[in-house]
Amino acid sequence: MEIAELRGPQPMRGEFADAVRAGNVIAAVRPITQRRRVRSERAPHVIIVGAGLAGLCAAYELQGHGCTYTILEAETQHVGGRVRTARFSDGSYGELGAMRIPEQHALARKYVKDEFNLPTRAFVTSSEAAFYLGRGRRVRIGRVKRQVAAGQPDSLRQAYRLNACEAQRSPAELWDRAVLSHIRALAADERCELRDSNVFKTRRLIELDRFSLRRLIELSGLSNEAIEYLLAISGLRTLQHSAVTELLREELCGIWSNPGFYEIVGGMELLPKAFLHRLRSKPRMGCEVIDFQQDQHPNRVAAIYRHRTRPHKHEREEADFLICTIPLPVLARLEAHRRFSPEKQVAMRDLRYESATKLLIPTTTRFWEKNEGIFGGASYTDLMPGSVYYPSDNVGRDEARMAGPGILAVSDCWGQEARWLGHMRAAERGALMIETLGKTLHAELLQPGTVRHDEVRSWYWDGHPWASGAFAFYMPGQFATLHHHVTAPEGRIYLAGEHCSRMHSWMEGALASAHDAVASILAQAKAAGAVNRSRAFLDA
Ligand SMILES: Cc1cc2nc3c(=O)[nH]c(=O)nc-3n(C[C@H](O)[C@H](O)[C@H](O)COP(=O)(O)OP(=O)(O)OC[C@H]3O[C@@H](n4cnc5c(N)ncnc54)[C@H](O)[C@@H]3O)c2cc1C
Repeated sequence: MEIAELRGPQPMRGEFADAVRAGNVIAAVRPITQRRRVRSERAPHVIIVGAGLAGLCAAYELQGHGCTYTILEAETQHVGGRVRTARFSDGSYGELGAMRIPEQHALARKYVKDEFNLPTRAFVTSSEAAFYLGRGRRVRIGRVKRQVAAGQPDSLRQAYRLNACEAQRSPAELWDRAVLSHIRALAADERCELRDSNVFKTRRLIELDRFSLRRLIELSGLSNEAIEYLLAISGLRTLQHSAVTELLREELCGIWSNPGFYEIVGGMELLPKAFLHRLRSKPRMGCEVIDFQQDQHPNRVAAIYRHRTRPHKHEREEADFLICTIPLPVLARLEAHRRFSPEKQVAMRDLRYESATKLLIPTTTRFWEKNEGIFGGASYTDLMPGSVYYPSDNVGRDEARMAGPGILAVSDCWGQEARWLGHMRAAERGALMIETLGKTLHAELLQPGTVRHDEVRSWYWDGHPWASGAFAFYMPGQFATLHHHVTAPEGRIYLAGEHCSRMHSWMEGALASAHDAVASILAQAKAAGAVNRSRAFLDA
């Protein structure tokens, strides 16, 4: 059956136009209850708001279960949301959003490797030849590691006034005592709850959730100087005031203790593109959703949107269910957010999003390979630019490639420093970060002809109208008190997206949230007798 057949008659042009002109969008859209009752034996039709990974994955899974869908996307050209690959004139590329995938992320692996067979290679996370830059000292990571292994005070910690007891311990021992010991102390059910549940019920997790990373480390008795040293060496300085449960969950999943990452050769955007290629119904681009409508009888839901080319005209799409993947800072400013429960509205406005500014520096030579012997990995600084990632594409040390151009990715510039930089004009922001790094980390950046200045790209995620933030990363207490309000469905509307998952800041979270929403819709539809083709998915 054609989707058009299922839609009720559209409101008369005149009535609709008059109501819109009067600023009354909801009055402009005729109540759903007046429309034709849908036939119950067909598979449900679903509106998906947003063509980021959560939206694309939801569409792909729904399609696999015989459902139809309409994707409404605000962007006019870009599909993939916060997966954003920047391309340069010489054919090289860099990532302004997601750049690496942990081996532990099963859903990402399922799509990238098993279903779409995309080319991948190891993403190098650490290089002994790269640097720690803390309190003005530039020390090779390998040197610090060797000194720690030999029981000597490492060159970086000499810049911090550690007490005698702290000075005898390696950074790993300090981290273990301050942070990892709390994971070991969790009982099996508490571990499951931390990893898999949208609600904390056990007392220990509720209490742990009240602490920031810094506060938890303080409670282990470490001095302020030792904490500063640990944060510098771990690259976690900008996340120190976030809820420690965000980091404990990642540690529990072994992302940092057993690091193995990979990247997609050709750019991370190949993943959303692979989904897009498989979708029978492509996203409707340039459609900014501004409001929702739903009625219990006859169980229909509608998205009200405006198309980029017709900004003053409000249009409507109607379906059996709706999956909304709009990031919370965007959703909270739309009229649509008032359609949700008061608890959800407050949660949407309160839950904290991290800020991020990313910079890609195209260079004419790979001086970090030639001069420093750095092939992948990152240098960690306590300066405003944050960490500097080196490309992972030349671990074989190919001479020809070494002589060619490269892209330095300046990343992990988060929090208020990202906002300070973000408020600068893009060209000035790039120039400031390059100058800072040139004076402290790589003098080559200041040599004429090294940086292709006209192609430097920077991206401030808070400033992007369809993201307004980098990713959800909660403050202490927010998971225990607010998260379940965000994930709870409201009638026929399901929220999905990285923020609805327990893996904030990862693509895996977006994919997992899509699976959760699709499974719930199929279950709800099946319970209502509307679909019975979804056995495999529901059984899985
Ligand atoms: C700087 C940065 C680095 C990251 N690094 C990594 C990494 O290394 N590895 C990793 O796995 N993950 C990483 N992530 C996280 C990952 O990119 C996200 O978790 C994931 O892409 C989020 O997908 P999503 O579908 O939930 O949201 P989005 O990708 O934001 O998709 C939401 C979509 O909704 C659209 N939209 C918004 N408002 C409207 C509206 N009103 N109407 C219609 N459409 C609308 C948007 O345009 C967008 O296309 C990073 C993220 C950032 C920002």
